[in-house]
Amino acid sequence: MAEEVKQAAEEAETQQAAQDTAEKKTERTARTRRKPMHRRKKVCRFCAKNAAPLDYKDTETLRQFISERGKILPRRVTGCCAKHQRAVTTAVKRARHIALLPYMTE
Ligand SMILES: [Zn+2]
Repeated sequence: MAEEVKQAAEEAETQQAAQDTAEKKTERTARTRRKPMHRRKKVCRFCAKNAAPLDYKDTETLRQFISERGKILPRRVTGCCAKHQRAVTTAVKRARHIALLPYMTE
């Protein structure tokens, strides 16, 4: 008797799992079918204004390139070109080393 109940429960579970995967599948196809989002082309702000080379002591500027937790933001977020993103990264790391910026925040 108890065995039967167990089996039934198991069956219901597997059915539920199958349904879940089916739902996930439809979700995925819906995601791929979605209209392409219009994104504004980001321009590297350092290239744009011909700014002076980034200074590791300029924490105010550098803070714009780190997340709340103190992580360096990726290029896809900052919109910097490769050259300037590299400059940002080095500057942030230097600033961290002399404790102007945190390595991480809790
Ligand atoms: Zn640039």
